[in-house]
Amino acid sequence: MKFDSVMIGGGLAGLVCGIRLAEAGQRCAIVSAGQSALHFSSGSLDLLCALPDGTPVETPPTALDALSRLAPAHPYSLMGADVVLAHAQEAERLLARSGLQLTGSYRENHLRITPLGTRRSTWLSPDEIPTLPLNAPLPWKRILVAGIEGFLDFQPHLVASSLEEQGASTETTELTLPALDQLRNNPSEFRAVNIARVLDIEENLALLAEELNQLTQNADVVFMPACIGLEHPDALANLRSRIRCPLLLLPTLPPSVLGMRMHHLLRRRFQQLGGTIMPGDAVLKAEIHDGRITGIYTRNHTDIPLRASNVLLASGSFFSNGLHAGFDAIREPVLGLDVTPAPPRSQWSVPEFFAPQPYLQAGVTTDGALRPTLNGVKLRNLYVAGAVLAGFDPIQQGCGAGVSVITALHAAQHILAQTEDVR
Ligand SMILES: Cc1cc2nc3c(=O)[nH]c(=O)nc-3n(C[C@H](O)[C@H](O)[C@H](O)COP(=O)(O)OP(=O)(O)OC[C@H]3O[C@@H](n4cnc5c(N)ncnc54)[C@H](O)[C@@H]3O)c2cc1C
Repeated sequence: MKFDSVMIGGGLAGLVCGIRLAEAGQRCAIVSAGQSALHFSSGSLDLLCALPDGTPVETPPTALDALSRLAPAHPYSLMGADVVLAHAQEAERLLARSGLQLTGSYRENHLRITPLGTRRSTWLSPDEIPTLPLNAPLPWKRILVAGIEGFLDFQPHLVASSLEEQGASTETTELTLPALDQLRNNPSEFRAVNIARVLDIEENLALLAEELNQLTQNADVVFMPACIGLEHPDALANLRSRIRCPLLLLPTLPPSVLGMRMHHLLRRRFQQLGGTIMPGDAVLKAEIHDGRITGIYTRNHTDIPLRASNVLLASGSFFSNGLHAGFDAIREPVLGLDVTPAPPRSQWSVPEFFAPQPYLQAGVTTDGALRPTLNGVKLRNLYVAGAVLAGFDPIQQGCGAGVSVITALHAAQHILAQTEDVR
């Protein structure tokens, strides 16, 4: 099987790179072993929320110089500020072309309301979640926080008490929604994604609208868990058109409807552009000749290799098995690429739970063109993007999704330039 490019990993990085290459006319395949971090994410994408010294970042463009001084091995520092900002703009356009309705801009972070009712700074948010400008007071005075009876992944009282601390007056309620009774009988199945599959059905949506209309008389806005609009993106607009009060959705504990919907839309865009997805398959090894990857072997295609002019490794971090931690070494398991030299194991983590954890910065090292090395030697047709990369802490620096989409676009740019050179 021959392709122009093959992506190893179908999370945010693999999909964004695949879309960009397919838009440019390449024949692409994505091999993806399992669920990605998107299935567990808030649905908001972080670009850069804090510097490594803890300084909060309000406007990412003005913080990139300081980042490159404090963290020269950060993927943004390797690529350079101008390149990062150009790709951030391109990312906003690509996500919009893929049908994602997001609010926010790379120029300035905004705040989103979290599943606990607190505020968190971010880059882009699904437009149905509550957001506000940095340093602004809550724009809602009377908020009704509506949970769903028996649904434990969203606690309206916790949300309400955080919102009260921020000056809002709140009420809480629990929607009864008899249409969910069958799911309620099996608590382990009573999760956001399964609830959305029921509520997206037109007749159930009508009943939900009726129940909400009875409860929202005194509220300026109602906050509900994000359990709508998984497979029917119009479901929320449909519900909103039937209720008197503005409705916003809060992300829930994983699995996340907002993150999964982002995954569906990106995957659909890639497939509409002619891309091939091999879900549930895993790349096991690659054949390398003369400094190039010449064949990729997967679990399902056994001894029939995938052949491609260029390969992207976007296999994620420890969470997705893109990195493995052994007793005293961290390794990249598919190709055995060079990773950041590991300090002694006792220094991989620190005892303070909320402190930045050093192991999170481990990963595959590359040059500014995102080309890695294998035993010190560069592979000419291999690029690396996303969470498998070294040099950043997605939690402390709030840059996880930004690193994935921006490195994916940078890799795509290099692949396309290389293709031009060959022609
Ligand atoms: C639980 C969780 C929640 C997060 N939430 C947020 C958030 O809300 N906002 C934010 O900005 N960032 C968040 N992040 C940071 C996150 O890392 C990035 O946002 C981004 O989604 C990572 O994308 P990725 O494509 O680089 O990696 P991943 O999403 O991890 O995708 C890697 C994919 O590669 C596949 N894979 C691995 N090995 C192989 C193989 N050998 N062959 C084929 N496929 C393989 C995996 O199955 C997986 O599907 C979160 C991270 C985690 C772990």
